[in-house]
Amino acid sequence: GNWAAGALRDTIREHTRVFEAMEDPYLRERAGDVRDVGLRILARLQHTVASQELIYPPNTVLVGDEITVSMLAEVPLECLAAVVSVRGSTFSHVAILARSLGIPAVVGLRELPVTRVDGCEIVVDGYRGWIYVTPSPAVREEYARLIGEEQELAAGLEELRELPAATLDGIHVPLYANAGLISDVIPSLRHGAEGIGLYRTELPFMIRSHFPGEEEQRRIYRQVLEAFAPRPVTIRTLDIGGDKMLPYFPIHEENPFLGWRGIRVTLDHPELFLIQLRAILRADVGLGNVRLLLPMISGVGEVEASLRLIRRVHQELREEGHDASLPPVGVMIEVPSAIYQIEALARRVDYLSIGSNDLTQYMLAVDRNNSRVAALYDSLHPAVLRALTQAVLGAQRCGKPIGVCGEMAGDPAAVILLLGMGVSNLSASVASLPRIKRVIRNFSVAQARNILDQVLLMEDAGEIRTYLDGVLEQAGLGGLLRAGH
Ligand code: PEP
Ligand code: MG
Repeated sequence: GNWAAGALRDTIREHTRVFEAMEDPYLRERAGDVRDVGLRILARLQHTVASQELIYPPNTVLVGDEITVSMLAEVPLECLAAVVSVRGSTFSHVAILARSLGIPAVVGLRELPVTRVDGCEIVVDGYRGWIYVTPSPAVREEYARLIGEEQELAAGLEELRELPAATLDGIHVPLYANAGLISDVIPSLRHGAEGIGLYRTELPFMIRSHFPGEEEQRRIYRQVLEAFAPRPVTIRTLDIGGDKMLPYFPIHEENPFLGWRGIRVTLDHPELFLIQLRAILRADVGLGNVRLLLPMISGVGEVEASLRLIRRVHQELREEGHDASLPPVGVMIEVPSAIYQIEALARRVDYLSIGSNDLTQYMLAVDRNNSRVAALYDSLHPAVLRALTQAVLGAQRCGKPIGVCGEMAGDPAAVILLLGMGVSNLSASVASLPRIKRVIRNFSVAQARNILDQVLLMEDAGEIRTYLDGVLEQAGLGGLLRAGH
């Protein structure tokens, strides 16, 4: 007595209710899956999707309400031209991944009627954060010209590849690449990275349907370590939570960025942590170029607990007959408390790495994914710059290297300041490496220090940005500006 779509709805409701009433949080979460299946059947009933698999034509622009890292990973890279989403901000992980792949992305486009643009021709201007749906011939032409210019700039930067990343007064600032998918490794080599400064291990976890086991992980890490040996590869232990969810390990919280994230999850689940550590240390056997990095450290207790587990894994592997070495261990400085305990942290580890993305979000209380407050998110905020200066000084007092691996390390204006502070290395998305090298080679540390002194007198991020843009212009690096921010 019901029509097909109505009967389907009732049945799906009934099933989801059963799942939702379950005690086990994992099974409860499956209600979403049942709903999803229901929606798919409904779509077929209504003939809104073709029955064959999605085929991605060349120059696909992926548009959605929310684009996740796994959706992005589904599209063959050679077909993907750009990403556009209603939610998210420039610092969300999908934007970072798009940047590292050199793919334009416009996120946080809150007014976009997603379904209406399906099949339309779109121009995506990732620098300005604009899109043009069904562009006029004049707009098309203008963008074709800009793409040509962009290619010329890239070719000019490419020539820098073999030149050292050293300042005018001869200080070498090693340039590393941020990576997360194996496809990142090849372009990073091409752009002259001196190693991997941040390998985000959660990405290989996110594109699977289950936790990868020890051997599977070992193979993934080994590929990266081998590709870069003898250059260093910094592998960060699993940093899930916040906006990085594993489909098979749901976490529901009111405030995910202030909740169960990074090291907090892995210390609560030592079985996950130990497997990952075993896989990393085993992948390094015979190479010796791995460095471990711990995310979301907010106090010394977490460092000590992690070090105990790392030593235990090392000991066990030796006893099992593996020729594993104890790698250098570092912590991410990305929570404000870490700034004020910088020396206590530095004394316990071999190196420090500033995660400017989270540090900015936590210092300014601005969600890195919330498009509504995106304008407030600025790593050049005077408070963030003071925090960074303090962190670098603290690390230097303890004689420990401190680098920056957040997106700030890929922003030409910010890099001048980081040089002035005296950071030990920079790690940025592959696409920004040539630009950053250009900045390093155009300034002396002494000049950068003077610029930093000027900037530290300023009280507003906008004023700082304008001043630094002027400095870049004057140094003949104005061409990098459009690409920098
Ligand atoms: C950071 O927070 O700056 C960082 C490098 O880590 P992620 O962006 O993966 O959180
Ligand atoms: Mg972070």
